[in-house]
Amino acid sequence: MSRFNVKKFRSHFPLLAQKYNGAEIVYFDNAATTQKPQVVIQKYQEYYQQYNANVHRASHHLSTISTTEFERSRNVVKEFIHAKHLEEIIWSKGTTESINLLSQSLGQLLINEGDEIIVSQSEHHANIVPWQILTQQKKAHLKVIPLTAQGTIDVEALEKLITNKTKIISCAHISNVIGKINPINDIISLCKKHDIVSIIDGAQAIAHEQVDVQELDCDFYLFSAHKIYGPTGVGVLYGKRDLLNKMPPYQGGGEMISKVSFSGTTYNRLPFKFEAGTPNIAGIIAFASAIEFLAQQNMEDIIPYEQHITQYCHQKLNSIVGLKLIYDELPDIPVFSFTIDSYHNHDVASFLDANGIAIRAGHHCAMPLMDHLSLDGCVRVSLSAYNTTKEVDYLINTLKKMLLENTNILNNVDEYIDTETNNELSEQLVVTFSNLKGWDSRHREIMMMGKRHPRLSDDLKIDDNLVQGCESKAWLSYQVINDKYEFFADSDAKVIRGLLSIVLAAFNHKTKQEIKAFNVKDYFKRLGLIQHLSPSRANGLNAIVERIMNVVS
Ligand code: PMP
Repeated sequence: MSRFNVKKFRSHFPLLAQKYNGAEIVYFDNAATTQKPQVVIQKYQEYYQQYNANVHRASHHLSTISTTEFERSRNVVKEFIHAKHLEEIIWSKGTTESINLLSQSLGQLLINEGDEIIVSQSEHHANIVPWQILTQQKKAHLKVIPLTAQGTIDVEALEKLITNKTKIISCAHISNVIGKINPINDIISLCKKHDIVSIIDGAQAIAHEQVDVQELDCDFYLFSAHKIYGPTGVGVLYGKRDLLNKMPPYQGGGEMISKVSFSGTTYNRLPFKFEAGTPNIAGIIAFASAIEFLAQQNMEDIIPYEQHITQYCHQKLNSIVGLKLIYDELPDIPVFSFTIDSYHNHDVASFLDANGIAIRAGHHCAMPLMDHLSLDGCVRVSLSAYNTTKEVDYLINTLKKMLLENTNILNNVDEYIDTETNNELSEQLVVTFSNLKGWDSRHREIMMMGKRHPRLSDDLKIDDNLVQGCESKAWLSYQVINDKYEFFADSDAKVIRGLLSIVLAAFNHKTKQEIKAFNVKDYFKRLGLIQHLSPSRANGLNAIVERIMNVVS
């Protein structure tokens, strides 16, 4: 631990020096994507400034440089994961595309009617949906391995699921929600024993574990560059050469062919057979810089530091009353998923965001896992080697502040302005919001509105009233009295209820004509909110407005 200098490591990431309300941004959404070191950004730029040319095809010196750099990257990745052969490294757009490639190509090679594919309960949608598509196409079956009480894949249960129809087992090295290493050595052994193809989704493991695909002896290992300090739009599919050679191409086009004629086409050799079209050349070249950068930092030093900060964060989160980790045990990587009593996960996320802390809330592309846990969603804090214990302390203090403020909001609700005429109410809101400085005070105001927003009765929270496009559930219903509309809306998240209050203040107790004539864009602009809302939240607001407009159209 002592050998790792976090301050120095952090200084390589320019985005982390950005200020928010005078303080450095706290970026705790690393399981979604990591920040990029300067060397990666520079390499990206270098390609476009100095040798931008397509790879493999052209016969000019720019293309020679870009092709050399491009293939050098492949070699860097090969060495990084200890693959045996260079042609076992296939470029893709990311883990998702790697799995789609396998499901279609390997699926075509291996899967027949009645065959079985097995995934686990905790998989990311990227390792579920492609297999669902394949099993539907082939009339095959998708089976699900349950989890142990600690949240890892239950190998004993897996053994019982395997039959002579099982052809593929595909599972994550580490779940993006649970953060614990799955027993992949046992799973791969079982696959070998039963002649089943093993696929390991390494999207979360790659940044935190030293992966040796020969030692693992899995058939396929997949990951994305952006989760390990590399660019987005670049992924790796590692596969054993013999299997890759037997598999049909995934996409057709340039590069993947050897000869094309209308009487028949022959395919290129590996790895090009699976690399149709122009790839993300800049991204792939810059990815090598990310790996080399990491090698210079020394993974042997980074890993103990990450373990230290994982323990630290785990202990601190546990000190918050009402916070419940979805699995109690210390995770193997710094990924913490939790709920907080009587707080919607989006409310926690929006409060932290208003205080300069970036985290993720929702289902984390793992809806079957959320169902299993009987949760609509949860909060996820995910750290990286550039995060510090000081940032963790700030998170903990901010969560404590949130819990305290909630009590204050409850006490202050009655002080809130009220009026009988809604025209005035929307105007009063504009005045109130324009008097507030900064997003955190506006956010606080929204939460106060959310707190006092009247709730819908359960009989109105039905699918017909559900508004599509909102990131957490929102319902809208209405009545018309004397040609004037009265809308009622509700949401699970307080922040959304606050925003709904703002929308309804503009439309309630108005006639059809008045509603249609209301300049909602201008209203939102004058409130000064839109620039602070995440695109999905802004889309949600627009979806509510659209629904209201549909009602009166
Ligand atoms: N699998 C896991 C375990 C992941 O965490 C992710 C990304 N969250 C993916 C697959 C998909 O990765 P990408 O979006 O980079 O294709």
